Amino acid sequence: MLTIALSKGRILEQTLPLLEKAGLSISAKELKSRKLILDTNLGEIKVIILRASDVPVFVQHGAADIGIAGKDVLLEHGAVGLFELLDLGISKCRLMVAAQANQDLAKGTLRIATKYVNSTKRYFQSQGRQVEVIKLSGAMELAPIVGLAHCIVDLVDTGNTLKANNLVPLELIENISSRLIVNSASFNTKHSEISDWVDRVKDNL
Ligand code: AMP
Repeated sequence: MLTIALSKGRILEQTLPLLEKAGLSISAKELKSRKLILDTNLGEIKVIILRASDVPVFVQHGAADIGIAGKDVLLEHGAVGLFELLDLGISKCRLMVAAQANQDLAKGTLRIATKYVNSTKRYFQSQGRQVEVIKLSGAMELAPIVGLAHCIVDLVDTGNTLKANNLVPLELIENISSRLIVNSASFNTKHSEISDWVDRVKDNL
C-alpha cells in the first residue's frame, strides 16, 4: 500500500492530469466527497489532499510515502527526512521580493512581510542584509500599502496581483515548481513499489 499526499488548490488542478497520464485516477465522486483519504483506480494507492504546507510534514513523518509539493513549501519546511526525486515542471512561479516603485531596499533594517519566514531570512542573511520579518498568512500585498512593511516576499506568476496593488517585483529569490518527494525511510522499505511508480510519472512528464 502506498499513500500519496497532494496539495489542495491550484497545484492539484495541474497534478491530477499528470497522475492520470501515469495511470492513476481519482473519480469525480471521490474528489467531491468530504472524505480525507481518497480511493484511486489502483487498489494499492490511496491519496490524501492537504494544505500545501502540510504535505512535507506528512511525508517527513511517514504518514504519506510520496508527496507533491511546491519548491516554495519545501524550502520553507527544510525538507528534513525526505528526498526530492522529480521536478514535475508544473505550477511554475517565482519567489520574489516586491515593493512600491519608489521604495529603497538598500536602507538600514528592512521590514518584510511574508509567509515564507525561513526562506526570507536565509536570502537576506546570505547577503549580509539586516531584516525584520513579519509573518503573515495571506494578503501580503497590503503590508507595504498600509505601512506595515517596506516590502514583501511572495510568489509571483503573471505579476497581476502585484500590479493591482501598485507593487513591483524587485529581486528574484528562487524559481519555483512542484516536486515529487518521498519519505526517506519508505524509499528504503518500499523501494521497488516507489521507484516503479516514480518512473511511471517521470516517463509521462
Ligand atoms: P499572479 O497574480 O499571477 O502573479 O499570482 C500571484 C498570486 O498567486 C499570489 O498571491 C501568489 O501567492 C499566488 N501564486 C502564484 N503562483 C502560485 C503557485 N505556483 N502556487 C501557489 N500560489 C501561487
